[in-house]
Amino acid sequence: MRENINEKCAVVGIFGHEEASKLAYFSLHSLQHRGQEAAGISSSDGTKLHTIKDRGLVMRVFNEEKLATLSGSSAVGHTRYSTAGDDSILDAQPVFARYDLGEMAIVHNGNLTNAEVVRSKLIEQGAIFQTFMDTENLIHLIAKSQQEKLQDRIIDAVQKIEGAFSLVFLSRTKMFAMRDRHGFRPLSLGRLSNGGYIVASETCAFDLVGAKYIRDVEPGELLVFEEGKAPQSVKVFEATPKHCIFEYVYFARPDSHVFGQSVYQTRKNMGKELAKMSPVEADVVIPVPDGGVPAAIGYSQESGIPYEMGIMRNHYVGRTFIEPTQEMRDLKVKMKLSPMEEIIKGKRVVVVDDSIVRGTTSRRIIRMLKEAGASEVHMRVSSPPTTDPCFYGVDTPTKEKLIAANMTVDEICKYIEADSLGYLDEAALLKSVNATDDNENYCTACFTGKYIV
Ligand code: AMP
Repeated sequence: MRENINEKCAVVGIFGHEEASKLAYFSLHSLQHRGQEAAGISSSDGTKLHTIKDRGLVMRVFNEEKLATLSGSSAVGHTRYSTAGDDSILDAQPVFARYDLGEMAIVHNGNLTNAEVVRSKLIEQGAIFQTFMDTENLIHLIAKSQQEKLQDRIIDAVQKIEGAFSLVFLSRTKMFAMRDRHGFRPLSLGRLSNGGYIVASETCAFDLVGAKYIRDVEPGELLVFEEGKAPQSVKVFEATPKHCIFEYVYFARPDSHVFGQSVYQTRKNMGKELAKMSPVEADVVIPVPDGGVPAAIGYSQESGIPYEMGIMRNHYVGRTFIEPTQEMRDLKVKMKLSPMEEIIKGKRVVVVDDSIVRGTTSRRIIRMLKEAGASEVHMRVSSPPTTDPCFYGVDTPTKEKLIAANMTVDEICKYIEADSLGYLDEAALLKSVNATDDNENYCTACFTGKYIV
């Protein structure tokens, strides 16, 4: 089995627009940060589904010619995050299937926690699987369901799965959007300017295609899209929200609103809280781009220490986190980030990043800043120590590789060779996202080990 079979991705659905696949394509561009390994779109022309998917960035997978073959007024799309090990094309989405009711395509963001159990049972009953994706379980559950209508089969199937799922299903004539009862991963509903509808993992997709945000798909809700009708809402599960707080910390794009709030604003709040919790005398605050930018602005505003861009990022190199071997990761950090000597030389530098996972990035960056002449480097992290892996759809290494699971803050500080190290604590993080007294509506498992499912 692979180390991580997580689905940490983006989904989009377009319903009721002549150029549905083009809108899905543009949306996927704005959701590219959620997954760079593979991309795909399925469209429906009312009688048949068409699918194109491949490894690589959205830009590589599609061109004008290919998009022209994805005809029809509805479409679903997906970008897939990289995983360790097998990255076969079979693991790209949408997952397409023909079954007794016709054809369907599914896109999934999230990670099912009982996937292995469900899969073993299905295999015992004679099912054959083509991929490692937990999403394929859904195809079998839907195909096997005794219900007559697809809508009821979907409801049947999702009763049997557990964990995180923001899903969009496409049939020849309908589209369905569904979120798990905890609403771990985001999914928003918007209106296209022609009156059609869009659902997407993040609202930055709406801005790009000129759609208006209506509301989030509720945790536990199934939305049914049918021609000539407003989306119909079916409450499948009682909502018990546990939104992934890491969407605010790192994953979502700052110009998106997820779980009803501006990502940028929450990140800036984190920086402000961090400045209060972990002040330091310094000459300049710099972010680790891009993730640390809003928090560094917040830190600077709260502390009064000037903000500067002290590190340049080369945007044409992929995320460092995605490379499976340590050697490659080290190399890619160097390729990606370079220090601005004129900003750093002789200065006491506060460097802000959103999280420390393995510690590799911070260690490299701090060395780099010292080599560029920084007199002191104070590392500030706008989230609590990442101590536990995520089982709900964010790519985190196993516990042994999480530096904060194995070292104290002082030890980490020494390891990364910083002059000081400060993290946000859980309470300040919750305050930054405007959570009430407790964290009832948020999943903070990666920082606390308190898992819900
Ligand atoms: P590390 O070298 O493992 O400590 O990586 C820390 C860096 O990875 C930080 O700059 C984060 O912004 C970034 N990061 C944190 N979580 C993730 C994730 N799930 N996927 C990709 N990058 C991440």
